[in-house]
Amino acid sequence: MTPDEFRAHGHRLIDWLADYRAGVAARPVISQTEPGQVKAALPAEPPAEPEPFDAVLADLDRVVMPGVTHWQHPRFFGYFPSNAALASVLGDLVSTGLGVIGLNWQASPALTELEEVVCGWMRQALGMSPAWSGVIQDTASTGSLLALLCARERTTNFSLARGGLQAEPKPLTVYVSAQSHSSVEKAALLAGFGRENVRAVPHDDAFALRPDALAAMVAADAAAGKRPCAVVATTGTTASTALDPIAGIAEVAARHQLWLHVDAAMAGSAMILPECRWMWDGIERADTLLLNPHKWLGAVFDCSLFYTRDPDHLIRVMSTNPSYLRTAADGRVTNYRDWGVPLGRRFRALKLWFLLRSEGLSGLQARLRRDLDNARWLADQVRVTPHWRVAAPVPLQTVCVVHEPPGVTGEALDAHTRAWAERVNRSGRAYLTPATLGGRWVVRVSVGAEQTTRADVEALWALVRSAAAGDAPGLA
Ligand code: PLP
Repeated sequence: MTPDEFRAHGHRLIDWLADYRAGVAARPVISQTEPGQVKAALPAEPPAEPEPFDAVLADLDRVVMPGVTHWQHPRFFGYFPSNAALASVLGDLVSTGLGVIGLNWQASPALTELEEVVCGWMRQALGMSPAWSGVIQDTASTGSLLALLCARERTTNFSLARGGLQAEPKPLTVYVSAQSHSSVEKAALLAGFGRENVRAVPHDDAFALRPDALAAMVAADAAAGKRPCAVVATTGTTASTALDPIAGIAEVAARHQLWLHVDAAMAGSAMILPECRWMWDGIERADTLLLNPHKWLGAVFDCSLFYTRDPDHLIRVMSTNPSYLRTAADGRVTNYRDWGVPLGRRFRALKLWFLLRSEGLSGLQARLRRDLDNARWLADQVRVTPHWRVAAPVPLQTVCVVHEPPGVTGEALDAHTRAWAERVNRSGRAYLTPATLGGRWVVRVSVGAEQTTRADVEALWALVRSAAAGDAPGLA
């Protein structure tokens, strides 16, 4: 494709995307496709000869689009908001179009320096002190892995330079909550802690990790010959946006020299609101933290911010220095390849830079406040409606709801919960993702898609009540 052909096709594709976003509300939220249907509509063999671009575009509409679930739909209330603000989409397009890779500073100085600047801007926007240094990772899963690798290497005084964890005299332990995201346990296993050394700390009735239980477990493990190493706290758990008490956990961590990592993947975006910062009170005592602007904030996936108070330690754990990557600028510049696992790095800062400049903090704050308000409205409706219950505190934008018809309990209630959520989803009129909380199924309503207004939340509440009453709402 020549640049002129790219210009022509690109203009059409931008129009196509703009039309898609403008009209997304008219589509069924969840794809109505059956498993295998997309694959069956595609040739089994790769194209031997070039095809006209029109043929590709036609198949985008014919084959791909029916298999898309619309995350940018105003009635997407599933998982978490993954807002891909259009300004951010354009920043990502520039990144892709430039086609540069940040192997080191010299490989594209702007890639590194813009990243340093936007990480600094976000640090300030989140109310964090200058003690933090930031880097953009792909996902929170990667950030938690980095944190636990740093923890492991601090506790063992760089076991990776000797015989790794296997040469350590005592098994290292890491503390998580049963409400932690699955990526945390995965990170601990990948970092070599071993399943029996990933300890689940009990939580309270609000699903927040209990510092007293943490202290007791750490002391018992140390007495039993283990070596407590790290604790992972969550600001905004996946199921219910529960808030682990960072200050209390930091006390225990300081007493036992535990690395404190805070996973604020979802809720971190809310910290641009000064009125929400109490939710991670004590954050300045953490060692590392992460948040995903690719969730609620509006940066297009993938864009996960990782902050550390000790970048030198991170670099020591992660650095490689082969001859072909050295340049005359080394020593005077940041080489972000030493701040994470991959060598090659995308120009991710662009999508955050475009977003921040186009929306301004005031625009982003206004949207988040709108969503908090809509979630509170929904929670209030649920609370005053007979046989409906809000199953967890609602500090943010996720409302966990249960419908409890008289006499229906236990597994029958779980089956009812999942059935009405499925009825909502199959209708195409909204999308919800149920989850277990405290051993029972609840339906999470995750408010905060960019286009979601109060009218959408009102329509959802009507839909949910009719689905729970057994109606099978028709396809949108
Ligand atoms: N941590 C929390 C609290 C989350 O809610 C999620 C995603 O849902 C993750 C981590 C994982 O995020 P990622 O897909 O960026 O790895």
